Amino acid sequence: MSAESQTKAPINWPGAIVLLGTPIAALILIPWYAYHHDFTLGAWLSFILLLAFSSLSITAGYHRLWSHRAYEASLPVKLILMIGGTFAIQNSILFWSSGHRVHHRHVDDIELDPYSAKKGFWYSHIGWMLRDYPNGTPDYKNVPDLLNDKLVMFQHNYYIPLVLLTSLGIPGLIGWAIGDIWGVMLLGGLLRLIISHHVTFFINSLCHMFGKRPYTDENTARDNFWLAIFTWGEGYHNYHHIFQYDYRNGVKWWQYDPTKWLIWSLSTMGLTKNLRRIPSFNIKRAELAMKFKYAEKNLAIFGHDVDEDIAQIKNKIALEYDTFTHTLNEWAHLKEQELQAKKASVAEKIHQIDVKLKHEFHAVEKSLIEQSERMELMLRSLKKEMKRV
Ligand SMILES: [Zn+2]
Ligand SMILES: [Zn+2]
Repeated sequence: MSAESQTKAPINWPGAIVLLGTPIAALILIPWYAYHHDFTLGAWLSFILLLAFSSLSITAGYHRLWSHRAYEASLPVKLILMIGGTFAIQNSILFWSSGHRVHHRHVDDIELDPYSAKKGFWYSHIGWMLRDYPNGTPDYKNVPDLLNDKLVMFQHNYYIPLVLLTSLGIPGLIGWAIGDIWGVMLLGGLLRLIISHHVTFFINSLCHMFGKRPYTDENTARDNFWLAIFTWGEGYHNYHHIFQYDYRNGVKWWQYDPTKWLIWSLSTMGLTKNLRRIPSFNIKRAELAMKFKYAEKNLAIFGHDVDEDIAQIKNKIALEYDTFTHTLNEWAHLKEQELQAKKASVAEKIHQIDVKLKHEFHAVEKSLIEQSERMELMLRSLKKEMKRV
């Protein structure tokens, strides 16, 4: 469906009322209440805790668990994530995950990506939800696993009553317990809902617009530390789009990704398991390939050897590229050997070959990491030279 026909699709009234009505209600009610009654500390605390609850249920639950199957969760964890996700009012797990899988499969496609960033900020952020879903109701052919999941289907079939129950029940109960029902309803309920909506929407809009592309430039997804802070770790979206099955979005240990910390912490208690990690070799390979691409682009700006130092760097990069290709060939060769070993004979022999191969794989990976570091230095000196010239 083209951008033009999308604007002609009928208005999605429930979506429009929730998404546009809640900010209007908040703008009127919250200042009015603050003026007449003031908010208690408890109401503000409920805002922070419930924001974390609903947002993490979307990132760890809707996104990494149900859309990507990046790990497995025990029933109590699934139940809590389902409740928190319902409380975030972003449609059912089934609908959300089906749309999200389409987004990954057809990322940036104007016709097929349901929230294509190529259609601009407004559309990818919220516009796509204000009108009926492109091509009518989704057929859910891409979520057979979820169609067989009892909890997911229960939430899908009773979505509206569950939304009412969580939206009124959770803040209502907390408010009743701390003696400030209206304060908690407004901050932990209404304001929390609006903020948790927009931080999720940032992932589809801003995370496809601003930031770096260290792993792939084949789509618009970006890595952005600042957005990771607001989006509970989902700001490392460039990594996520190339390796969507990894339970981490911020793959480096120091990258701010509370969702990965939550999933990992739960795994130490046996509440989640089989956390999927992309092998570090594959990650390094993607990173290094991009570094070469950037170096080439930078050098192309200069045309032919304008400066002697730049010519030298150019030669070095060409040499490094040879090493990179060599390393990749070596790796492919090892993979082939591994495959042959698995096909061939007895267990003992496989074990011996495995040990030997593991050792060699390790060496290849080490050389790739060293190369990556050298490349980093070269790019830095290249930038310096370019400034000088
Ligand atoms: Zn995306
Ligand atoms: Zn995703």
